[in-house]
Amino acid sequence: MATTKKRIYLDYNATTPLFPKVATVLSQAFGSLGNASSIHKEGRSVRGAIEDARESVSKLIGVPASTIIFSSGGTEANTTVVRGLINSGAVNDIFCSAIEHPSVRDHVNPERHIPVDNRGRIDLQQLHDVLRGKKAPFLMCVMLANNETGVLQPIRDVSTLVHEFGGLVLCDCVQGPGKTDLDFTSLGADFLTFSAHKIGGPQGVGCFVMNSEADLEPLLIGGGQENKRRSGTENAPGIIGFGAAARITAETSNVEKISGLRDQLEAALLRAKSDAIIFGREVDRISNTTNVAIPGVSSERQLIKLDLAGFAVSAGSACSSGKISSSHVLLAMGVSEEIAGSAIRISIGRETSWPDLEKFVEIWATL
Ligand code: PLP
Repeated sequence: MATTKKRIYLDYNATTPLFPKVATVLSQAFGSLGNASSIHKEGRSVRGAIEDARESVSKLIGVPASTIIFSSGGTEANTTVVRGLINSGAVNDIFCSAIEHPSVRDHVNPERHIPVDNRGRIDLQQLHDVLRGKKAPFLMCVMLANNETGVLQPIRDVSTLVHEFGGLVLCDCVQGPGKTDLDFTSLGADFLTFSAHKIGGPQGVGCFVMNSEADLEPLLIGGGQENKRRSGTENAPGIIGFGAAARITAETSNVEKISGLRDQLEAALLRAKSDAIIFGREVDRISNTTNVAIPGVSSERQLIKLDLAGFAVSAGSACSSGKISSSHVLLAMGVSEEIAGSAIRISIGRETSWPDLEKFVEIWATL
């Protein structure tokens, strides 16, 4: 089998390469002394850098800086909102779409998972039928874009419906920034969550946005940092790196270029194998994600062969800690176990070039 000399990274939904400028900012931040809670000059300097970062993240998202609470990433942000609302008694029930990331979905009773259609979009009629007659207040969680298929969800419609029934909405936006030009403020959600490492920032830092006055019990109790919503000395370098990545993402949109490459890739895949199946292609998706099955060839086999040939892709979600099991997302879309077990996710980004993708297709065609 042909191989490439250089590694070709096609797994941007798992994590993205750090922007070189962010790497410089991080190494400077690691070299500076001071706790942001201290009154002295050193402390104030770190506090200033954290607040600058909050400002940059707020500009990327389009919300007031005061509504942003930094966390250790998307998982903690989702968990804080879901558990925090339940623990405070602000909501008495939780629902979610059947395709949420496990950091949301695993908090919700499977009976309260709202189905999606075979294109991967939440079924609004079913949502309406389930919520009708529910006793508010409750929380409905729906992600902006699915990490496995890239399918965008009709968040505005979900928010309108949920608010009509007196509920609150959490929208996991982790896969959104840099991959869609959508305006996050137009979503109408009460809580939004983000993660730095999906936008060229460091791993282990993210945030949630509170557009709601609802009582949210903090997960971490202690020094009262982050407006008493998330105690613990701030991960100052991480937050500063997140701010730098947000600035670069906001200033340099590549959405059109990336979706052009994705479309070219999908056309080439279908030319190479006419029985290949690309999921969610008929509906709006973020710009960079292709989930494709080769019926009869297991995901594991594809992954290993591609890895040996120099390509990093994933089967389903990399957040499932290296284990390959049938994707709950594809199964929720009505895809059979067999076909779901033959799908891989290709997610591209800023550094991806057409020659890289051409090489990928050449090797994928031989699987
Ligand atoms: N939500 C979605 C949609 C994700 O794709 C991920 C990670 O891939 C997360 C949440 C978790 O984010 P983090 O890795 O920052 O914990």
